Amino acid sequence: MNKENLWQTVLAQIQLNISEANFATWFKNTKIISQQQQKITVSVPNSFVKEWIENKYKKNILQIIHNQGLKVKKIDFIIGADKSKIPKISFKAPKIEQPELKIAEDSKSGLNSRYNFENFIVGSFNELAHAAAWAISENPGTVYNPLFIYGKVGLGKTHLLQAIGNESLKRTPKKEIRYLPAEKLVSGIVSSIRNQTIESFKNFHKKIDILIIDDIQFLTGKEKTQEEFFHIFNTLYHGQKQIVLSSDRPPKAIPALAERLRSRFEGGMIADISYPDFETRMAILKSKSQERKNPIPDEIYEFLASSIQTNIRELEGALNRIVLYQKTNNKKILLEEAKSLLKEITSSPLQKITPKKIIQTVSEFYDLKDKDIISLSRKKEIVRPRQIAMYLLRKELQSSYPFIAKTFGGKDHTTAIYAFQKIEKELEKNDVLERDINLICMRLTNS
Ligand code: ADP
Ligand code: MG
Repeated sequence: MNKENLWQTVLAQIQLNISEANFATWFKNTKIISQQQQKITVSVPNSFVKEWIENKYKKNILQIIHNQGLKVKKIDFIIGADKSKIPKISFKAPKIEQPELKIAEDSKSGLNSRYNFENFIVGSFNELAHAAAWAISENPGTVYNPLFIYGKVGLGKTHLLQAIGNESLKRTPKKEIRYLPAEKLVSGIVSSIRNQTIESFKNFHKKIDILIIDDIQFLTGKEKTQEEFFHIFNTLYHGQKQIVLSSDRPPKAIPALAERLRSRFEGGMIADISYPDFETRMAILKSKSQERKNPIPDEIYEFLASSIQTNIRELEGALNRIVLYQKTNNKKILLEEAKSLLKEITSSPLQKITPKKIIQTVSEFYDLKDKDIISLSRKKEIVRPRQIAMYLLRKELQSSYPFIAKTFGGKDHTTAIYAFQKIEKELEKNDVLERDINLICMRLTNS
């Protein structure tokens, strides 16, 4: 049997035993590139797949080969020419957010006057972050230093950070204020290292009174930049200059960073922004449409506020489309028209994730049946996927714990709390689990 046929045979048999999605994830773009009597070398697309196949399927593959009457003893997996990487998935929306730079932005301070406190709506979901931000604009460098604001994408972090800058500038125009997306900080540091101007780069930052760095999750894994950042941070901190940071995750989820900043954070403030409730979404829509001077019918506000729940940027985008429609057609939009206009948004994959889909996707990923996962079995190979599914229900759908418990056939919601906390805790240190969950999320959004 030649190597092509042999691999086809192996694949055909594996395919029988695992789900289609699993098969595609792990075996696409694999092939035997050399076949000797005792050793076979298989090319795989990337290290992620390599590790996975070695751990999970190698024995099985050897068995199939032996069943063909071959005496192969060893299989090597090597990363082939096709180095396509599995992207790291951030689940809710585009991976990393950039502030919108379209509108006039002061190139020195990096501030955009469009983002201010006056047009920032406050609700219970962002109350703490808002209060801290406001306190800082009144008294920079003294009350909360650093201020660390975190929350998912599109929920107002950039707006709030920029508002701090704009408000401080208004109060004390002489102050040096600098707003930098972390990505710009990285490129600034990298190029000043390359051009050997890092000292002047640092000195330049020394003059700053308020330094605002947005989306610092960007610094993850960038050791050199982090190091330089700490120098800048320490200088400013000791000089009682204000530092404001934002991220899409809490500090403890950025381990390397948090480790070094931990003691600093104790004197500072960490505030999160969660999801706005219905009333707040209505208030935001009304305020935005006032800005646009093009009111829309009340029922359309309600329709938008109930369709789009977890991202203010999307809410605003939808409103913009409605306003544009009204302008071009020179009339008020009807509910039916609004519905069809927004079909794309409201039927996007993110909106279609349901508890059932999470259960199906997780079961399929672990080669289980849906009913296994929602059974009360205590078998290890079932308990774990069940906890992951519970975790995702909470994390991605904000389901209540009693609801989660009921969905999984239990009565006691503490089981659901336990599952969520256990997985969340483990995610901090278990890379394999993180990858699994990323892959599951990728399938959830892609299917
Ligand atoms: P993030 O930085 O968290 O991804 P942004 O600050 O860019 O989110 O916010 C996305 C959009 O939503 C912006 O246009 C912003 O003005 C608007 N927005 C967010 N939160 C509020 C709020 N509380 N009030 C008014 N507008 C908001
Ligand atoms: Mg942002």
